[in-house]
Amino acid sequence: MRIAVYPGSFDPITYGHLDIIERAADLFDKVIVAVSVNSGKKPLFTIEERVEMITAECHHLKNVEVRHFRGLLVDFAVQNNARSIVRGLRAVSDFEYEFQMALTNRKLNAQLETIFLVSQPNYSFLSSSIVKEIASLGGDVSGFVSQNVANRLHNKYHR
Ligand code: ADP
Repeated sequence: MRIAVYPGSFDPITYGHLDIIERAADLFDKVIVAVSVNSGKKPLFTIEERVEMITAECHHLKNVEVRHFRGLLVDFAVQNNARSIVRGLRAVSDFEYEFQMALTNRKLNAQLETIFLVSQPNYSFLSSSIVKEIASLGGDVSGFVSQNVANRLHNKYHR
């Protein structure tokens, strides 16, 4: 069974993330969306909220599981019998950090392969941070996230 992990903060999940998840689900027998607890960033949504939102978005994908993880991604991958790490690449600006992470993870565990899926052009500008900024300013985020996520953003900023 080919198992991949797709790690990230997903604070919150956007259509850009969902596109990567759907495409990974096509390529692998099982995809584990791994929500990072200790990413260094101060998240807007709790780990439970982020897992809930992703689970709702991925309801139609039967080979996708959503979990949270602490500590090293390579350890989480091994514990879940995954051999691949999936990451999305938006722009050239993502490349340097992703390249560094991929090489570091390979150094930590040479059995794990990082696979990059290039973002769809219409989502290549999209990030959770941009979505949060728009939502915090009262803008319309309906083209970027689901209605459920948009409602939760509204509740965080405007209630
Ligand atoms: P992290 O804090 O680990 O970067 P993110 O939730 O921001 O977590 O991103 C998780 C993964 O999803 C990363 O590989 C990122 O490049 C990718 N990603 C984020 N937004 C998009 C998008 N709009 N299109 C494609 N990939 C994306």
